[in-house]
Amino acid sequence: MIAVVEPATEQVMAEVPRAGVEETDAAVAAAKAAFPAWRAVAPGDRAAILRALAAALEANAGELAKLEARNAGKPIRDARGEMAMVVECFRYYAGAPERLLGRTIPVAGGVDMTFREPLGVVGLITPWNFPLVIASWKVAPGLAAGNTVVLKPAELTPLTALELERIALDAGLPKGVLNVIAGPGSVCGKRLVEHPDVAKIAFTGSTEVGRGIAAGAAQTIKRVTLELGGKSANVIFADADLGAAAAAAPLAVFANSGQDCCARSRILVERSATDAFMSELERAVKAMHVGDPLSEETEMGPLISADQRRAVASYVGDDAPVAIRGPAPDGPGFWYPPTVLAPVSNSDRAAREEVFGPIACVIPFDGEPEAITLANDTIYGLSGSVWTRDGAKALRVARAIETGVVSINSNTSVRVTTPFGGFKQSGVGRELGPDALDHYTEVKNVFYATEEG
Ligand code: NAP
Ligand code: MG
Repeated sequence: MIAVVEPATEQVMAEVPRAGVEETDAAVAAAKAAFPAWRAVAPGDRAAILRALAAALEANAGELAKLEARNAGKPIRDARGEMAMVVECFRYYAGAPERLLGRTIPVAGGVDMTFREPLGVVGLITPWNFPLVIASWKVAPGLAAGNTVVLKPAELTPLTALELERIALDAGLPKGVLNVIAGPGSVCGKRLVEHPDVAKIAFTGSTEVGRGIAAGAAQTIKRVTLELGGKSANVIFADADLGAAAAAAPLAVFANSGQDCCARSRILVERSATDAFMSELERAVKAMHVGDPLSEETEMGPLISADQRRAVASYVGDDAPVAIRGPAPDGPGFWYPPTVLAPVSNSDRAAREEVFGPIACVIPFDGEPEAITLANDTIYGLSGSVWTRDGAKALRVARAIETGVVSINSNTSVRVTTPFGGFKQSGVGRELGPDALDHYTEVKNVFYATEEG
């Protein structure tokens, strides 16, 4: 059994059976058996089933949000927002079965046409930081394109994925189309990557595990999409609305307790503005509500585990001084206070490695070229922001940063309708928006001769 722990209390909140290789193979076999019938469902009928699933998720959103808030230790308001995104994601991709258009291409001697064919069984491996929402980014386009799915959630947070499987069956998704296996990555995840009947792996997690998945998938030439780590820059120029930039900066790192691949954990501030920025930032960090995930005013909960807290703490006391510390409760729970290190050099360990916890580095810079150089001096390229009132500069810098997603005068990263994914070692491929469907289909080219010879 897997003992599922509630990070705010350190108590076991549920026990679920632990899957192994046998259960993984059974799930793949079920998905393989269900594939021919699922791909043959008429596009409008497949769309209707996905809409019914979205409606069922919406009806269960309150309970799902509570379960996710408790299991992942995230503020209930954030969890509700995530469930709204899950519903929106299924609604959006319910529009896809009837819009997977091919092309006709002018050729000699006949008609040439392309089709977007499903891949078959797709294996989805997801992390513990945004359990159900990240699963929905993969399950919804995967099913919409006519694939069947085996989903392996992180062992620390399997509960909402198991609920998704139950809700989907109740909503009319045929048996075997969506199969959830709760078990360790080194066993179930590894088996999915190796399995000859799995056509594709879509993975979200650490860059380290992602490297192993890319290598493993090479053995059977599986399609792979990888959404990996980040060390994103929040570039704040002196001519920005500093009050707005400073007020928004804490949650851009500390939301989800910093356990966010899009965390803007390197705050690059133009040197002439650092004093003004730091005093605004201090006020905002000290005022943060850190505590019980189920309380309405909470902005930050605990970390996911004691291991994660140990790893996060190892970055403090290294090179850079602690400039600001926010609040954190005492007692049981894997708490860690929001912490700002300043001034930090971009070569310090805290600025180079993905901390995945509530630690922000403030790095001063002088002028636009240095801002771009520092922003790009990382192995990652997932997210980022540029704050300035100069529109041309904002666009120049946004274009120059090697990253998959960048926001101007905003710290948002993810929308259901727009592509999301990384440059460099932050990943391969794109999720969400129209682009995701490319990664769940193969293009088939059919030539039909109309002329003799
Ligand atoms: P992780 O350790 O890489 O695990 C992610 C998933 O992979 C889990 O389901 C895990 O299973 C599984 N796994 C572990 N070892 C495996 C193996 N050898 N073969 C196949 N699967 C394996 O990541 P995490 O600790 O859960 O999450 C944190 C990381 O995710 C961070 O680095 C973060 O940046 C990244 N992340 C990226 C994005 C993005 O979209 N770019 C979004 C969120 C998170 P078990 O945990 O059950 O063993
Ligand atoms: Mg891990």
